[in-house]
Amino acid sequence: MLPASLLSRLAAVRGSLLLCRGCLGPVAGGSEAGLCARCWAGLLPLPPDRCPRCALVHAEAACPEATDWALGDALWDYHGGRPPLGALLLPGIKQGEAGWRRALLDRLARAPLPDWVLDVDRVAAAPSALPRRLLRGFDLGAEAARVLAGRIGRPFEPLLAKTWFSGRQASRTESERRRLPRKAIALRRGARPQGVVLLVDDVWTTGTTLLRCTQALREGGAGEVRVLTLFRAL
Ligand SMILES: [Zn+2]
Ligand SMILES: [Zn+2]
Repeated sequence: MLPASLLSRLAAVRGSLLLCRGCLGPVAGGSEAGLCARCWAGLLPLPPDRCPRCALVHAEAACPEATDWALGDALWDYHGGRPPLGALLLPGIKQGEAGWRRALLDRLARAPLPDWVLDVDRVAAAPSALPRRLLRGFDLGAEAARVLAGRIGRPFEPLLAKTWFSGRQASRTESERRRLPRKAIALRRGARPQGVVLLVDDVWTTGTTLLRCTQALREGGAGEVRVLTLFRAL
C-alpha cells in the first residue's frame, strides 16, 4: 500500500499529463504530441478570396505587395485557432519540440495543395543561417521542401544559402526585416535554378526573405518562381 501523500502526488502527475499543452484544457478523445484535437483543428486555411500572389485579402486588382514571384500561397493561417496554433507550434519546434515537428510534417504530407504546385520543375527552400541550423540539428523549411518534393515527384535542390552576415531575422523589428540586404541570400556555388522553381519556407511574414530568395533564383536563371509556405502571418 502506497502512502496517501504519494498517491495524491501520482494522481496530480497523471492529471497534468492529461492536460493539453496548447489550450491547457482536459484532453478528451486523445491527443497528438500533447495537443488536443481541438487545438490541432487550428490549422486553418487562409480566406478563399485571397490574392494569388501575396496570399492576403486586398481590394486592389493588382497586388500592392512586393512580390517578384508568379504565384504565392500558404497552407495555414499562422494566427488560426485558439490559441493561435502556428504561433504556438513554430517557436516550440525551433526550441526542439520534435513531436510537434513530426506531427506538423505529417499534416503537410496530407494537406491539400494548390494545383500550381504540381507542375514545377524543382523544389528549393529559403535558407536558414548555418550556425542556427547546426545548433538545432534541423531546418524546418528544408524539411517541408523535402516532403513537398516527395509528394509531387520533383527533386529537392538546396539552391540557396544565407550569407554569414545576414543575422537573425526573428529578432529584428519589422522595418529592419524589410531592409534585409539583397546580398543576404545568394545562390549556392554551382546551383543551376532552371525552369519553374517552387520556393518553400516555414512561415511567411513580411515576405522580404522570400523576395531576396526569388531575386537570387531569377538572377541565377530560374524561368519562374512560385512560393509556398506552411504558414502565412499578418
Ligand atoms: Zn488543446
Ligand atoms: Zn496581393
